[in-house]
Parts: sequence; C-alpha cells; structure tokens
Amino acid sequence: MLLSGKDLLDVANENSFAIPAFNISDWAMLNGVIAVSEEKKSPVILAIHPDELSHIGVDMMPGVVARARNASIPVTIHLDHGATYQQVLTAIQHGFTSVMIDGSMLPFDDNATLTAKIVEAAHSVGLSVEGELGTIGKTDDEAEAGTADIIYTEPAEAVRFVELTGVDSLAIAIGTRHGIYPSHLKAELRLDLLKEIKAAVSIPLVLHGGSDNPDDEIGQAVKLGVNKINISSDIKVAYHRKVREILADATVREPNTIQPPAIAAMKVTAAQKIDLFDAAGRARHY
Ligand SMILES: [Zn+2]
Repeated sequence: MLLSGKDLLDVANENSFAIPAFNISDWAMLNGVIAVSEEKKSPVILAIHPDELSHIGVDMMPGVVARARNASIPVTIHLDHGATYQQVLTAIQHGFTSVMIDGSMLPFDDNATLTAKIVEAAHSVGLSVEGELGTIGKTDDEAEAGTADIIYTEPAEAVRFVELTGVDSLAIAIGTRHGIYPSHLKAELRLDLLKEIKAAVSIPLVLHGGSDNPDDEIGQAVKLGVNKINISSDIKVAYHRKVREILADATVREPNTIQPPAIAAMKVTAAQKIDLFDAAGRARHY
C-alpha cells in the first residue's frame, strides 16, 4: 500500500513511534528493505536522495511504485534532501508520494520562502513535504549533506517556520550528523531541546543522520516524539561489509550469488532499527 508521507507519519505521531526511512540505491536493496519491513510488519519510508535517483535513473521509478503498491505494509516513497524546485517537480512526475526540501543552509527567510513554494506545488497534487530547520552535522565527505558544526534548531523559530510554510513534517538539528562517526567525534543528542521543540510544534519531527548514534539515545528520542528517523550509512555499511567478504573469493561473479547474503546482512541491521524505533507490528494502525 502506497501512502503520502503525511498519512504515514501522522499515525506515528498519534501512537508515539518512529518510522525508518531507509535510503536505497539499487533494486536489491529496495527488495531487502521491503522484505524486512513486511517480516516485521512495520511501515517504511523508501528514501531516495537526488544523487541516488540519478544513479538508478528515473526509469526504475515505475518499478519502485509497483513494488510499494504490492507490499503488504504501508510504504511512502520519499525524495530525500531535495535541493531545488526542479528536483521536487521531477519527483512529483515520477511517482514519489513525499518530498523533502532542504533549505537549511539558507537564511531563515529564504528557507521559509523556498519551502512554502514547494508546499504549494506538492500539496496541490497530494504529496506531503518535509522541511528542515537548523543544520545537521556531517562526519566525512561520503555523507550526503551537512556542515562541520551543527546549528541547533531553536524551538521558537521552528514554530514560526511551520506556520509560515505549512510543512507536514520537520527535520530538526539536535546533535545528529550524517555518516559514520570518526573516533574524535562523539555522538550526543540534546534530548532537552527535543522536548522543547516537541512541546511547541505539533507536526511529526524527523531525525536525520540517525546512523551510528548510541541506541539508548535514539530509543529515548523516539519516546520523546521523533516520528521518522533516516538510516542510510548503517544499512549500506552492513551490505558492503558482506559484499567485501564474499568478493574475497575471486571465482564468484554472478549478482545472484553475491547479493543475497549481503541483503541478508543488511536486513539484520534494518530489523534492529525497526525494533529500536518501536515500529515493529505498527502496520496494524493503518
Ligand atoms: Zn539527511
């Protein structure tokens, strides 16, 4: 079943759990993410970043839409970190049901203006929109976006941003970073700030850079009202660690020999996230 981001996330907000947004970059990963979500009876967000979309090509999108529609669980197809109006229109054209517009690097007013323009376009054709306020950190150059230093989201600004733009969900900066942490950086969430933002803003809140943070902090963030957590690095690391292991045998060559064990390893990591986010069994709410 294919749903808009709003229809998916509002239920999570009402029932205090978080839905994983897993980034997928190829067909095998897509199948693995849907399969593990079906096994866990968890709603899921298929997150596709513009770089991932140019890697797979828009011609794959009808297949992604068909796979989502045929899934036994609720699925949203979400553009991760849309940067421009044109990228968002491309997503609308190719079957996405949710888009993110990331204007977080812009001054507040410019971010609000851009986001409001995207909301007007997306809402008019039934898609929902995630905005971002504050900046998420990045750990290395493989990370999808972010700054060296985190700019934390101000609760009062979050309220004003939601009012001005009409976004359906809001990505906040409370201490996460995109990517995997090097040893000199410590992952630490400002849960006090999350509490303040949740009390002030009623729409679902989103945590980016959810890979590699301590499980207990993520678990607490879910209890305190985060409803969508983006996981990209952790599932890709699990996948490629297994691929490297398999390719140590120089005689293997067939994707259907190489990929299934890697997908199985990725599914183990994804299943742990689903449990951590309290999303297992939650398909029953839809
Ligand atoms: Zn992100």
